[in-house]
Amino acid sequence: IRMPRTIIVSNRLPTKVQRNNEGLSFKPSEGGLATGLGSIYRQDGNVWVGWPGLLVEDPAEEKQIAEALQGDSMAPVFLSEVEIENFYEGFSNSTLWPTFHYFPQFATYEPAHWQAYVAVNEKFCRAVLELAGPDDTIWVHDYQLLLLPQLLRQQRPDCTIGFFLHIPFPSYELLRVLPWRRQLLEGMLGADLIGFHTFGYMRHFLSSVSQLLGLPNQNGQVELPTRSVLVDAFPMGIDYEHYVQAAGSEAAQQHEATYREALRGSRVVLSIDRLDYSKGIAQRLRAFEQLLQRHPEWVGQVSLLMVVVPSRDQVAQYASLKQEIDELVGRINASFSTIDWNPIYYFYRSFPLEELAALYRLAEVGLVTPVRDGMNLVAKEFVACKTDNRGVLILSERAGAARELSDALLINPTDLEGMAEALHQALTMPADEQEQRMTAMRELVREYNVFAWSKLFMYQLAYSKVKQNTLA
Ligand code: UDP
Repeated sequence: IRMPRTIIVSNRLPTKVQRNNEGLSFKPSEGGLATGLGSIYRQDGNVWVGWPGLLVEDPAEEKQIAEALQGDSMAPVFLSEVEIENFYEGFSNSTLWPTFHYFPQFATYEPAHWQAYVAVNEKFCRAVLELAGPDDTIWVHDYQLLLLPQLLRQQRPDCTIGFFLHIPFPSYELLRVLPWRRQLLEGMLGADLIGFHTFGYMRHFLSSVSQLLGLPNQNGQVELPTRSVLVDAFPMGIDYEHYVQAAGSEAAQQHEATYREALRGSRVVLSIDRLDYSKGIAQRLRAFEQLLQRHPEWVGQVSLLMVVVPSRDQVAQYASLKQEIDELVGRINASFSTIDWNPIYYFYRSFPLEELAALYRLAEVGLVTPVRDGMNLVAKEFVACKTDNRGVLILSERAGAARELSDALLINPTDLEGMAEALHQALTMPADEQEQRMTAMRELVREYNVFAWSKLFMYQLAYSKVKQNTLA
């Protein structure tokens, strides 16, 4: 007898494969998804299908990678150079990403990119079919694979298929701009359960399905001629205990002490994100400048520590954003620096977990300002690392996380004055109010962690199938 298995599918595998002088190296990725789904894909017979993240042209090397990954329940899908360009950098990151984050002016509409997107989704489909039996459960992740649920459904009509979108789902008015809007919606509807981070995204999806496909829905259930699809909100969490432990580690405390000494008593506002136009990095810099102008008492007293992780530097808008940020930081530092104080410490690189945890510990204020963000995990990580229940989170109302973290100081990232005043309020907030807000947020982040998230999704997925079968 064959036991039903669960197959996780995402663009990237939870392991980073890299080529160096000594050959290949395999590093587990620290991402929340990898941790949250670790207990699922590592179970007997289960597997995670995805791209290993590097260009492989030698079949012998492909074989070597596949064999190494197999030992850890993973199956690679290899992408060619042209596929990486057209499917990944092209349609995924230059068409879908800007459109879904409300930057249609950055979106390109290249038929060749669309064709590559279809072809790579089909490639993923073939890789999954090699592993999937007729009644397995398949959980597909994110915007790179919107067509995969339907492709799988056509070949495996009885499989249980779940889909989760990790980025926002935009208003119908943005989606309708895409020449391939129908195909994208139909692709998603191949699933039995479609999950989003918030009810807002879910409503946008249902509205698009009704306006573009004419399909009605009731209580989040879309009725297709042959089956029904359940749609629901599942806000993703983090591995809370992992961050609590990292923050309490000897290494993090030592890093914190070193940073404190170097900063000579300056209070710290922290921001951490990938370089992306959706993150509101320039707005944040201007707001910090306004704080120093409107409340000059903070000059010499407060520094902004800004970590920007390099990302997608092959896409044009990212390179020009980098230049804008470099110039802003340079200009603000040049105007306000004193011989023994720096307004902005700017790091354009990534940090290991212990150092991130040390930064979260060190900062009195976490400043998270995206103009659009599916969820934003940095906000939750900051909260988790505040083990003394002190500190203030300033959070953009346009991050998915704002729906849950209502005890943050919520700001509109377009409103620079409002952001500057929120910074002032955070820096002057009484300790008992900090504690009250932080305790409530920590409780929420602890309870709705990434394990609760994946469990709830899998439970609802199984339930959606049972419900269909009882109705049939
Ligand atoms: N992060 C990291 N290394 C760094 C800085 C950040 O691994 O040097 C992680 C951070 O801890 C968080 C993730 O990158 O888990 C960013 O996730 P988020 O949801 O905030 O934004 P995304 O990059 O997915 O848009």
